[in-house]
Amino acid sequence: MRKTALNGLTYDQLVELCHQAGAKPVHAEHLIASIFRRYNPDLDAIKELPNVLRQYLAEHTCIFEPDCTASQQAADGTQKLLLKMPDGKEVETVLIQAANRLTQCISSQVGCAVGCTFCLTATAGLTRNLTAAEMVAEVFAGQRISGRKVRNLVLMGMGEPLHNYDEVAHFVRIATDPKGMAFSPNRVTLSTSGLVPAIYRMIEDTLPCNLAVSLNATTDEVRNRIMPINRKYPIEVLMQAVRDYIAARGNKRVLIEYVMLAGVNDSPDDAVRLCELLEGVDCTVNLLPFNPFNESGFKRPDDTVVTAFRSVLADADKVVVVRESKGREISAACGQLKTETAAKRRHRTA
Ligand code: SAH
Ligand code: SF4
Repeated sequence: MRKTALNGLTYDQLVELCHQAGAKPVHAEHLIASIFRRYNPDLDAIKELPNVLRQYLAEHTCIFEPDCTASQQAADGTQKLLLKMPDGKEVETVLIQAANRLTQCISSQVGCAVGCTFCLTATAGLTRNLTAAEMVAEVFAGQRISGRKVRNLVLMGMGEPLHNYDEVAHFVRIATDPKGMAFSPNRVTLSTSGLVPAIYRMIEDTLPCNLAVSLNATTDEVRNRIMPINRKYPIEVLMQAVRDYIAARGNKRVLIEYVMLAGVNDSPDDAVRLCELLEGVDCTVNLLPFNPFNESGFKRPDDTVVTAFRSVLADADKVVVVRESKGREISAACGQLKTETAAKRRHRTA
């Protein structure tokens, strides 16, 4: 019999589980406080649980915590972890220290089906979606391994979160449940390559998180080339969805991500076109200088090019931040730790 993972349940589902076990709803409060607020998987430590519930939990449920199979730490404190899921599949999560706050980058899929040409995660295609319980387990591992409270969550790890909408939405609700992990919805950000219908679903569902959109180009010609999803949802359609999202959600700031690829999308004309595309759009622009990996075929632009691009945006009164990938010396491109660990294992067994 397959056991239910407690870390994939919302408060209401925990109440229902207590009901099934013949226990009172108040015990769901004890469970949620211990598991999600104190990150303590030891149910024996919850003295208040009645025996009937304890027995039911032992027979029917588990608390899932992945093993950490590889890790790297950078001088700036950034830590990258490879986590092993119950079926043996591995995903990356990254702990980023900034201004004394810990941000965790969460993976939503094993691999990704979108196929962006500058992204290492894309090279192996999609293996499978992660469940909400597995994404919660990433946060548990982040808390446990850092020994600190994670302050912000960004769904910017491996995978396209909106290709796994139901499980990601469930995860976001568990993470922001005030009775549970209680992340402020302002501190949870979901990044998408631009799956337009799912952005409208986020609006309809008032999903409690911020939206980040990976724009990465200013013409359909270039975006088609580097992000195949653009052939289905071109820039104009995507930007309309962004405007509709902002209109529906009030003044919440959307994040526009822009990976800078030397000679591809980093010209002064691109900067001007980006300003035009963002005219009247209440957003923050994150410029991400490309993180090189072997055989990508792309190059990181020179710092002077990044600075010039940034200045064009700033002069047009855009809020713009250059986001250097933290811990560049530790294979910071997403998917790199996983790829390198797999290569080392092959080398060892060869
Ligand atoms: N699939 C989602 C979220 C994961 S990727 C998305 O595409 O938005 C998170 C961010 O990393 C995206 O903005 C993506 O464009 C960027 N990215 C991917 N590979 C990169 C690389 N090699 N260097 C810099 N940024 C990269
Ligand atoms: Fe997938 Fe995002 Fe990588 Fe594109 S950039 S392949 S959507 S993970």
